[in-house]
Amino acid sequence: MEVVRARLAGFCMGVGLALKKLDALLEDGAERPTFMLGPIIHNPQVLEHYAARGVELAKTSGDLPDGSRVVIRAHGIPRHEEQALLERGVEVVDATCPKVKRAQLLIGDEAGTGRTLLLFGEDDHPEVRGLLSYAGPDAFVFETREELAQHSLDPAASYFLAAQTTQDRQGFLRIQQDLAMRLPGGVPALETICDATRLRQDEAIRLAGQCDCVVVAGGKASGNTRRLSQVIEAVGTSTVLVETVDDLNSDALLQYKRMGLTAGASTPKSIIDDIEAYLRAL
Ligand code: SF4
Repeated sequence: MEVVRARLAGFCMGVGLALKKLDALLEDGAERPTFMLGPIIHNPQVLEHYAARGVELAKTSGDLPDGSRVVIRAHGIPRHEEQALLERGVEVVDATCPKVKRAQLLIGDEAGTGRTLLLFGEDDHPEVRGLLSYAGPDAFVFETREELAQHSLDPAASYFLAAQTTQDRQGFLRIQQDLAMRLPGGVPALETICDATRLRQDEAIRLAGQCDCVVVAGGKASGNTRRLSQVIEAVGTSTVLVETVDDLNSDALLQYKRMGLTAGASTPKSIIDDIEAYLRAL
């Protein structure tokens, strides 16, 4: 069997940096209990690894004991929540992805000029909750063009547009065009979209075109991993979604001559390496 591994399989920059910060923290020998606020990554094997090293999971900031220390995951957290933690003496280790941090600061600057934020994103997503905390109280979040079309805009007010980092760039451009039709002079738009997700999907589609089947490695709770198998299926190529090498069934795979391998942005390199070695041995 020939195996073609995607160049971009595995951690994106933000996830890689967040885990490096957590590793550095665990090596400093401090006695304080260490928490992650929400799973730092949607990968059960990585979470088990950190749980075994004593890192506890807090579901909300209210669950964190005073005097503990907490790692903020790549999505970031709302500004007031971070402030409240600092006031309680919680040591906050900020592993917010630099791209998300940049989006938060850009939104804060623009909102500071008196403009109202129109945010293209998922209302209940942790990153969006964080971004909103940097905007004014009238900010509006929408997931689709239709939703924005139904929202009334005041022609006398001034707005600005931004997007959750993982949103689709083409959709964002269409929204800018819609707003240019509705408001004279259009609405200034911030560049906040990260291409990591799109580049992985584009590469998965190319791989699907060259292979009989593509193995996608990643946690079952990882949205970007599931999305990779969906884009592969959408172009008519078989795909197998696995968390680790143990989920592979060699009998089912032997029918394929050319096998692709990709992985979500939260899948560790060691898991991808194991799967690649297994496939090459078939
Ligand atoms: S997908 Fe982009 S913005 Fe999100 S954590 Fe990864 S690098 Fe950062």
